[in-house]
This record gives sequence, C-alpha cells and structure tokens, in this order.
Amino acid sequence: MISPKFDALVLRGIRPFRLGLLGGTFDPVHYGHLLLAEQAYEQFDLDGVLFIPTGQPVRKLGTGFSQAEDRYTLLLTATEDSTHFDVSRIEMDREGVSYSIDTVRAIKAVYGEQASLFFITGADATDDMATWKDAQELAGLVTVLGANRGEASSALKPSPFTVCHFHIPALAISSQDIRARLAGGGSARYLTPDAVLAYSQRQGLYRSRGGHA
Ligand code: ATP
Ligand code: MG
Repeated sequence: MISPKFDALVLRGIRPFRLGLLGGTFDPVHYGHLLLAEQAYEQFDLDGVLFIPTGQPVRKLGTGFSQAEDRYTLLLTATEDSTHFDVSRIEMDREGVSYSIDTVRAIKAVYGEQASLFFITGADATDDMATWKDAQELAGLVTVLGANRGEASSALKPSPFTVCHFHIPALAISSQDIRARLAGGGSARYLTPDAVLAYSQRQGLYRSRGGHA
C-alpha cells in the first residue's frame, strides 16, 4: 500500500493520476507545508498530494527528532479535512535511511504508468537535488515542482531535473521555530492547526528536555 486514499483511484483510473509527493520530516507539520501542498495541487492541476514523513532523515541523523509514529499522526490530524491530501507510511515502514529515489522506485513499482509523479519542494531544496542519490534516474521519474517564496533565486547549477517553478505566499514558518517556541513554553498557535498542538501537548512532544514536569 502506498496511499490508503489514492491507491484504488490510481489503479482503477482511466488516465494517469497526477500525484504530488511532499516528503519531509514534518516535526511537526505546519501551515507552510499545507500551503505548499495546496498551491501545488491547484496550480498544477494535481489529483492528490501525498505527504511522506521520513523515517530516518538522511540530513537529520542524530539530532533527536520525534518518533515517526507521532509525526505521522500529526500529519493525519492536519490533513484529515482535505479530500485531496493523504499521508503515506512508505518511508517510515522501510528499514534504515530513506532516499528519495528508493521512495519513488517503490511508488513506481505499485503504480507504474497509472500515475504521473510530481515531486514538490521548497525552492531552497531544488539546488542540491543534483547531488542526491541516483539523481539522473530520479530526474527521469518525476517532474519537480519548486515553490518560490519570494527569495532571490540562486545561480542555476547544472542539474538533470526538470523544475517547474511556482509562486506561493511566503510564510516564514518552520518546524524548528515551532519546536523552539514550545520548548520555551511559548505559543505556536496559528503557525500550525490547533489539532496539531493539542496532540503534541497530550503526547508531551516538544517539551524542553531537562526541564522539570
Ligand atoms: P525544520 O525546521 O525541522 O527543518 P521544516 O519546517 O523546514 O522543518 P521540513 O520537514 O524540513 O520542514 O520540510 C518539508 C518540505 O516543506 C520541504 O520541501 C520544505 O522546503 C518545505 N517547507 C518547509 N517550510 C515551509 C514553508 N514555511 N513554506 C513553504 N514550504 C515549506
Ligand atoms: Mg527544513
């Protein structure tokens, strides 16, 4: 199973399902992520967007991120009111480090030609994609949708990827900032849905370590 919501739609569809893929740590998910997904969905006429929380983040090894199950539950909570968003367990259920190429191969193995894959990222990430594992192969399997949040675009580096740039309103929100606010006992309201904060509080996520109670 790739997506509980989309699997049947993709496999029974008469034309290729335009599937957006949005990977990340989502520790926790916030309105920047949801806006990015919604704008990609609308601007590229996608049929759905699949959020893919990473199991063992390649770039965040050893930094003490939250349990994959908690990050997954937070994503489900934040996306449950959208008919065109779903959350996939494919990376978190796979052993070891997750590379994008492995995830895309796994999706292709199930969906084949029934899905057209769109890899959604912030424009900040598109620059170093050329250095990712098996970039050449990945470039042949996905179209990259790079959201520009108004930042100056960097010099174009040689890259095998076709990147479609698009604009979204800039929301200066990051998971790291939310974690810092919560760890300091502050408010993160209106940066992420209330349900995300409620679950985080119930589970004791993002409380300062070493503090009392
Ligand atoms: P952290 O602060 O822990 O690095 P993050 O908020 O940057 O987390 P990620 O899980 O690293 O979130 O990002 C997942 C994807 O969402 C990336 O493609 C990233 O570019 C994009 N993204 C993150 N924050 C925003 C935002 N405020 N607006 C639009 N896109 C965003
Ligand atoms: Mg980040």
